[in-house]
Amino acid sequence: MLFSFSGYPGKYWPHLLLICITCACVSNPYRKSNKMYRRQAKILAKQLRSFPMPDSMQPPAYNVGSTNFNLRKPNFVVIHHTAQNSCEQTLKTFTTPQKQVSAHYVICKDGTIHHMLNDYLRAWHGGAGKWGNSTDINSNSIGIEIDNNGFETFTDAQVTSLLRLLASLKKQYSIPAANFIGHADIAPGRKVDPNRNFPWQQLATDGFGLWYDTTNVQVPDNFNPMQALRIIGYNIQDSASAIYSFKLHFIQTDSSKMITDTDRKILFDLMKRYQ
Ligand SMILES: [Zn+2]
Repeated sequence: MLFSFSGYPGKYWPHLLLICITCACVSNPYRKSNKMYRRQAKILAKQLRSFPMPDSMQPPAYNVGSTNFNLRKPNFVVIHHTAQNSCEQTLKTFTTPQKQVSAHYVICKDGTIHHMLNDYLRAWHGGAGKWGNSTDINSNSIGIEIDNNGFETFTDAQVTSLLRLLASLKKQYSIPAANFIGHADIAPGRKVDPNRNFPWQQLATDGFGLWYDTTNVQVPDNFNPMQALRIIGYNIQDSASAIYSFKLHFIQTDSSKMITDTDRKILFDLMKRYQ
């Protein structure tokens, strides 16, 4: 039933206030975590403002503040699947302090993009990982989580939103095409996301990640495929796991941990693109 407050404002104000508070709670279930985000950002901003600078040089040398600087930029994008059952479940995980995991973006099945963390801040999405000589991927990357239980295909709406987001990130931070990678790429043996349904080839066509062309490839007899994996960026300490991660990204129809003749051709061609 509709009712009017005109004529008796004083009498109905408490009810109006209660309704407003209730609506605010219903419309934003993340009010509490948003507040925690702002508080945490404030603490970090205070650290940046501190002068003399409280960092690794102790006792400090001469403190001379330069006038020429800005924030460091991300240089990699790491793509994940959430391995959870819904977008809401992932948002809840990333807003629960005890979980200690986060990502900059979460893309739901309907293509909705949730921006959870300023691009300049360090998300906790990569964990222990290595790509090339980079051993702290969280410090130089943007983490994108795509809602997927680990076995599903990715929806068209998700891929469309992802491509739009990647284009924006690539342009804004001048991220090289080769630096769009998956969690499994940086953590062989530990992670298997995004799963083998992920459209890496489609992404590469649009300039996000590299792809191969095996037509007219002559592989020399002395070609070393493990060395090629290392040049591409894989950590080959556990060779079987490195091969598995490579196949998850570039072969997808083959889940073995053996290098085939076709794989040798692909690796030979890819290696040249990463050099
Ligand atoms: Zn992941």
